[in-house]
Amino acid sequence: MSGEFDLISRIAARVSSRPDVVLGIGDDGAILRPPAGHDLVVVTDTLNSGVHFPEQTAACDVGWKALAVNLSDLAAMGATPAWCTLALSLPQPDDVWLDACIDGFLALAAQHDIALVGGDTTRGPLSLTVTACGFVAAGTALHRDAAKVGDDIWVSGTLGDAALALREALQGRSCSDELRWRLDRPTPRCALGQSLAGIAHACIDISDGVLQDLGHVCDASGVGAEVRLDALPASDALVAHVADAGRWRLQSAGDDYELCFTADPMKRDALAVLSDSLDVRLTRIGSIVGGGGMRAFDADGIEVHLQSSGYEHFG
Ligand code: ADP
Ligand code: MG
Repeated sequence: MSGEFDLISRIAARVSSRPDVVLGIGDDGAILRPPAGHDLVVVTDTLNSGVHFPEQTAACDVGWKALAVNLSDLAAMGATPAWCTLALSLPQPDDVWLDACIDGFLALAAQHDIALVGGDTTRGPLSLTVTACGFVAAGTALHRDAAKVGDDIWVSGTLGDAALALREALQGRSCSDELRWRLDRPTPRCALGQSLAGIAHACIDISDGVLQDLGHVCDASGVGAEVRLDALPASDALVAHVADAGRWRLQSAGDDYELCFTADPMKRDALAVLSDSLDVRLTRIGSIVGGGGMRAFDADGIEVHLQSSGYEHFG
């Protein structure tokens, strides 16, 4: 068992740096040098045990996911990840748990060249808050308030895998590693987000569920959306587990770290090229229309009335 400073040393000994980190872990604050001509994008997300991940989730998956959800927000802004901090609350000082958690965190950090430059370590219910910073060429960040009437609506990847894996876990059933990783080890769409500058109008990450998050795009942009529920992209695993008609409910339940964005129909060719070059599936799920609100239609073009869909903490 270790004290607070031993725990911090265990983390500090393992982090890798970057040339733009003037001073990393060890002082009262980190010193970072953003590139000239760029805007800094700052995001924060917390994972609480039992709320954002099941209590029995493996420590390495918890570490991975804490960073992944933040990288997904940076991706949605079109930002290139650079630095992050980790505020960690642990019920007891547990070296084995901490080392595994940091394994997961740093494995994803290495993939995206983001440096862990500070944080806080306290005793309390298991909780991780990550603040991540990235940058974009000045004035080029993607916003959720930029959708235009006539835009296509696109989503990346497949939707509903995490919700299915969670359902199986809560019902005590096992599922394939591939499916479980969609819940525990989401892959933030950083390269896609960075490539969407100049192509997409509005962009959002759909961690709270595609319909709810698209609703935020509509509200912020002062437009409406029409979505084909049968067009929501599904993995083979989801298709095998869930019948067509109700599939959209799992696909809009949240915890999918994919991007939803809008773009002029003239950009379809550019997006096909991007999808190939990044090897990320991109699917057109509807259109932005005038007025406000979201309307959803089934495979026969019949309107499906949406009540609440997606995840809301105090809902
Ligand atoms: P202070 O008392 O000045 O807040 P701390 O003792 O909390 O300093 O932290 C010492 C150093 O270790 C600081 O640089 C801080 O950013 C870093 N640090 C603390 N906890 C973590 C953590 N969980 N992950 C990364 N760095 C951390
Ligand atoms: Mg501190």
